[in-house]
Amino acid sequence: MKEVLDYIGGAWRKPSSEPGTEVLNPATGEVIARSPAGAAADVSAAVDAASAAFPAWRAMPPAERIQYLFKLKQLLEENFEDLARLITTENGKTLGEAKGELRRGIENVEVACGIPILMQGYNLENVASGIDESMFRQPLGVVAVITPFNFPAMIPLWFLPYAIACGNTLVLKPSERVPLCMARITELIEKTGLPKGVMNLVNGGKPTVDALLDHPAVQAVSFVGSTPVAKYIYARASANGKRVQCQGGAKNHVVVLPDAEPETTTQIIADSAYGCAGQRCLAVSVAVTVGDARKWFTQSISNTASSMKVGFGLEKGVQMGPVITSASRDRITQLIEQGMAEGARPVVDGRSARVADCPGGTFVGPTVLDGVPAASSLAETEIFGPVLSLVHAADVDEAMEMIARNSYGNASSIFTTSGAAARKFRNLIPTGNVGVNIGVAAPMAYFPFSGWKGSFFGVLHAQGRDAVEFYTDKKVVIERWPKEWSRRF
Ligand code: NAD
Repeated sequence: MKEVLDYIGGAWRKPSSEPGTEVLNPATGEVIARSPAGAAADVSAAVDAASAAFPAWRAMPPAERIQYLFKLKQLLEENFEDLARLITTENGKTLGEAKGELRRGIENVEVACGIPILMQGYNLENVASGIDESMFRQPLGVVAVITPFNFPAMIPLWFLPYAIACGNTLVLKPSERVPLCMARITELIEKTGLPKGVMNLVNGGKPTVDALLDHPAVQAVSFVGSTPVAKYIYARASANGKRVQCQGGAKNHVVVLPDAEPETTTQIIADSAYGCAGQRCLAVSVAVTVGDARKWFTQSISNTASSMKVGFGLEKGVQMGPVITSASRDRITQLIEQGMAEGARPVVDGRSARVADCPGGTFVGPTVLDGVPAASSLAETEIFGPVLSLVHAADVDEAMEMIARNSYGNASSIFTTSGAAARKFRNLIPTGNVGVNIGVAAPMAYFPFSGWKGSFFGVLHAQGRDAVEFYTDKKVVIERWPKEWSRRF
């Protein structure tokens, strides 16, 4: 059993609350750690440490601040394999998926190393005769980051590098279901020699979150998780006067046109639906086939889904791991049953998936539900598991209307060889991330990770320039220096 510790003011400490959530290896069911329930006192200590570190950190030149990020990038590379194995162990995704996640996280460290340019303001001489005006970006102070279970390394790294590179100090709360990966990354951060108190880690559940939302010294909150919690956090933190960005849940659609290339389309959509056991906010949940695509796609996706190897993600050849907990597995199987009750047909049914070597694992096999009624409650519910619903449309307009009706707006994709159809889709579809012949439309670190409607609350998104805007405020300075006030030289 690993001990889950907090990292506050440069020291590792035992959380003051009692153990709460069990941390499991979802492939074996083994309990590997216990997260604390969380306590306001620990949050208070972390925010005090971050507040104390802020004046010196903000005064350090940006070009010096980023030297710690260069060191972090190096340490993440040196520990890449071990970190990826840790992600698989506490989250369940395959080792290949864990490496992919870590790579995307490291890319954000690399982009944040460009802060001396990214953070620059702008200026103009002679806005009026003899008067110059400049805009400077300045850090906010102490910022809080609250993250979900499905990307234990990447999602904290969507925020942490930008927040500190901009001169803020940070309190990060990882998901209580996967605390070990961020603890290991924090050990690496410590090795960079980052000044004490600049980055603090507090563990726990709702009590920890609520204390961060209410603490008067926390200036900004970045959150990623489910939509109900995102709404709650957005409302409570905003009411407390904080700057907030909350990324929520999703129900992503792909549209398959009859002219799509069948083999690659099927492969890409299967990767999107079943990668990370469907526990990705960009996973496709609904495939809308248009016209004749229905026949070939239903057949080919069913063949692919039924041939996937499910198992322990550290084992070679495994294509899909377990879902995070038995509660998740039960919720997903209940949703499959609800879909069937609403008229869907399980062409591939993963409810009884078992993995011989892993009897304690929480597995759900890849599932294909055909004919999910567009008006059913399942068509609107985020399943967050390896379940692909198939719905059918007469033409691309009908398919796009179905997507537009959905309350989420995280991502959508179209598969076609027609430029005109792709262009129309890209232009009109109301989701924040859009793929054209792409299954997981995940923006690179130097683009904002968008998300619209019920998938995002706020204005500025994670990553890239949006992150820099979110973690800084603008100061505008107007200056007049009349010649006659100056001594002559
Ligand atoms: P979650 O909402 O249960 O938890 C996220 C965080 O909020 C955790 O740190 C948790 O401790 C905290 N939390 C949970 N309940 C809370 C409450 N009642 N009050 C205060 N804090 C609370 O999410 P999860 O199950 O860890 O992650 C999966 C969800 O995250 C899915 O809905 C998925 O779509 C979403 N997600 C979205 C994105 C995105 O970019 N939009 C990315 C990844 C995951």
